[in-house]
Amino acid sequence: MTTLMWMQTGACSGESMALLCADRPNLENLLRQYAIDLLWHPSLTVGDGFGAVLARVLSGDIPLDILCIEGSLMTGPNGTGQFDTFKGRAKIDIVRELAPRARHVVAMGTCAAFGGVHASGPNPTDCTGLQFRRDQPGGLLGADWRAASGQPVINVAGCPAHPNTMTKVLALLASGETLPLDALNRPAPFFASLVHQGCTRNEYHEYDIEEESFGGRGCMFFSLGCRGPQTVAPCNSDLWNGHSSKTRAGVPCFGCTSPDFPPERDLFVTPRIGAVPKFLPPGVARAKYMAYKNLARAAAPERVVKREMEP
Ligand code: SF4
Repeated sequence: MTTLMWMQTGACSGESMALLCADRPNLENLLRQYAIDLLWHPSLTVGDGFGAVLARVLSGDIPLDILCIEGSLMTGPNGTGQFDTFKGRAKIDIVRELAPRARHVVAMGTCAAFGGVHASGPNPTDCTGLQFRRDQPGGLLGADWRAASGQPVINVAGCPAHPNTMTKVLALLASGETLPLDALNRPAPFFASLVHQGCTRNEYHEYDIEEESFGGRGCMFFSLGCRGPQTVAPCNSDLWNGHSSKTRAGVPCFGCTSPDFPPERDLFVTPRIGAVPKFLPPGVARAKYMAYKNLARAAAPERVVKREMEP
């Protein structure tokens, strides 16, 4: 049996909601097939309250295999953590005490991983992630902190985290697997492709057929804020609820698996230098990119210009 404790800190419950949408494996199968004993989840468990479970884990009465943290860590005011407490005790202090007991610590969502929404400016509650503060290593536990497994906090980034990525990561950990991590401690197999690479609007991007307003079938990169070409995430390779994603529904990718999410600018507007997006796909030279785009637009087939292809 693998024990799992799920603790919420500064969160909107987005990961808890998303977890209910997982279908490969779904939550029920995850717990049954991988023999996971869910000790505590604020919305899904009944019986002993958080305090009782916490006391048993901290006393060593129950070994803890996986600790999931959902939400950013509120360190304010003045480092006391008193903006977010359990029975008067700062949750950051509970996390500091609980984390060394766990074989694996998993940050569920961008808030727990990097600080996320709450750590975006002006950040009045002084929020941070578990081992990163935005893109800077450190966070609540410090960059060098390691769980009993020898791994740092595993950052299942996303706002919310992808349902199937959460359940697959937990299934792999419960199976005794060691997950390779990328430079931001995200489980590499799930963060290995760009949102752009699986987007159904790719042909429009290819021929520089861009939308200036919402509701069209074209690409959203040049004007409508899409960060798909810069964002690693499984959203367009493992579709949400088995059939959709933001870009398929006509919404730009916001880059929510990135440590700078949310950026302090309008999510629906592309910042530009002249006519060209300020942030280009990784490794692309600006001058060559524009030359390619101009040629591509000139070569665009009529059916693409007229948006006759269903995205
Ligand atoms: S809408 Fe976004 S993800 Fe889709 S092709 Fe355009 S830039 Fe790429």
